[in-house]
Amino acid sequence: MIDDSINYEYILRYIHDVLPKQEGLLAELEKFAKEHEVPISQPETIKMLEVLIKLGGRKNILEVGSAIGYSAVRMAMANPEAEIQTIEINHDVAEYAKRTFKRAGLSDRIRLTEGDANVVLPQFAADEMKFDMIFVDAAKAQYLNFFEPCMNMLVCGGLLVSDNILYKGMTATDELVLHRKRTIVKRLRGYIDMLCSHPQLDTAVLPVGDGVALSYRSV
Ligand code: SAH
Ligand code: MG
Repeated sequence: MIDDSINYEYILRYIHDVLPKQEGLLAELEKFAKEHEVPISQPETIKMLEVLIKLGGRKNILEVGSAIGYSAVRMAMANPEAEIQTIEINHDVAEYAKRTFKRAGLSDRIRLTEGDANVVLPQFAADEMKFDMIFVDAAKAQYLNFFEPCMNMLVCGGLLVSDNILYKGMTATDELVLHRKRTIVKRLRGYIDMLCSHPQLDTAVLPVGDGVALSYRSV
């Protein structure tokens, strides 16, 4: 992970060093993710999510891309009043995530919907579900498709957090773009441009983790 980092290695090592180490279930999930190459967001990204949740008292949170449930658990623990709705397409990791939520005693506050967000998000939007924070952390090529239903469900004053938008630096310079990643990178650039110029959003593009866009819905 550190090898593909968009930040200087010594900076990252330092940041990872100062962040408190997780224990128990969370430490176990981190170990499992590493051993089985399950992606989880970078520690500095998750810490930022926790701070944002506390800062804004975020209560109704939607996550796109649960994987084994690591970030959902961290977000739920950041605010005891928060309820998390998370979507995951992969059956095996979805099952693992559900077990995680049970073990963490959080099944009552985290609900997982198994399915393709391309299908599930429009259904949620049609059901008029509303969220004060949306964390998009799934297939990067599809962020543009996820946007419309997400925007429909994001309340005014809500925060859209998009992860991995700098994609190992490839988004920022053609020099790094691997041939087979051209399409994803092009879409990510389009997504960032759209977020930055959107009339209802104020977007900060941050080199945190693998790149995070924070979009505040002002109108
Ligand atoms: N948020 C997690 C990591 C998610 S990794 C954490 O930080 O702990 C990205 C996940 O998105 C993967 O598990 C992948 O299966 C899922 N995913 C990819 N495309 C998706 C889609 N179209 N709909 C729902 N989930 C998707
Ligand atoms: Mg991520």
